Amino acid sequence: MLQGKTALITGASRGIGKGIAEIFAKNGCNIAFTFASSVEKARAFEQELTSLYGVKVKGYQSDAANFEQSMALAETVIADFGKIDCLINNAGITRDTLMLRMTEEQWDDVINTNLKSAFNLTKAFLKHFLGNRAGSIINMTSVVGVMGNAGQANYAASKAGMIGFTKSIAKELGSRNVRCNAVAPGFIETEMTHALDENVRKQWADTIPLKRGGTPEDVANVCLFLASDMSAYITGQTLSVCGGMLM
Ligand code: NAP
Repeated sequence: MLQGKTALITGASRGIGKGIAEIFAKNGCNIAFTFASSVEKARAFEQELTSLYGVKVKGYQSDAANFEQSMALAETVIADFGKIDCLINNAGITRDTLMLRMTEEQWDDVINTNLKSAFNLTKAFLKHFLGNRAGSIINMTSVVGVMGNAGQANYAASKAGMIGFTKSIAKELGSRNVRCNAVAPGFIETEMTHALDENVRKQWADTIPLKRGGTPEDVANVCLFLASDMSAYITGQTLSVCGGMLM
């Protein structure tokens, strides 16, 4: 579905980003991906994807929250790959705590990594997409950005912000055939959710109509659709991948 295309996925050394890179590579897409600190995991993943699917794969250590690093990354990636067809703003973190205890640092870290990063990378690739008169930008939000969640005021605010950002970019860039959509996962089994207490994870799963947490592959399949020409007439939308948690 993505033969001849190239995607940049932020935060793909593990979890959902890694799942997206795998499905995209399997579908013929060249992969540029970023990570924060998992150097060895990233190198092993590069080799694994190249040998399994024969596509070009390169990992870059780049802090998505940092504007200068994001601008430099875009230049390097375009020099290495020639073009980018799809940008996936996936890198994200949590710093969960109740508002009463939340520090300014916990607020800033989450807003910068989850929301400012979408601005940084979109800005960095904007002229490239406009020049190509084509492109698909996918922002990884969360059902929590729509529903809110106690103990996640910083995270929910960052993810709600991403939805507003997505709709605005879709309106700004639609006339140039650049699409921008958001994907809102519910409860997905990754290191991010494994940090939660076993009982909390079970309680979450019990409230989901499909009675299970999602997999990175569940989310990746929706991104595959949004990156492909199958979704050519879809922009400004938020697609939930949550087993029915949000209706
Ligand atoms: P994860 O397993 O914790 O993986 C996070 C990825 O982001 C890693 O590759 C990490 O790199 C990278 N990263 C973190 N900070 C970064 C930074 N400043 N710059 C560049 N890369 C950075 O998380 P996940 O569960 O896959 O979540 C991925 C996205 O989906 C996030 O935006 C998250 O909010 C969203 N989401 C997740 C769930 C869920 O249930 N898991 C639900 C809804 C939304 P290193 O390996 O180097 O640290």
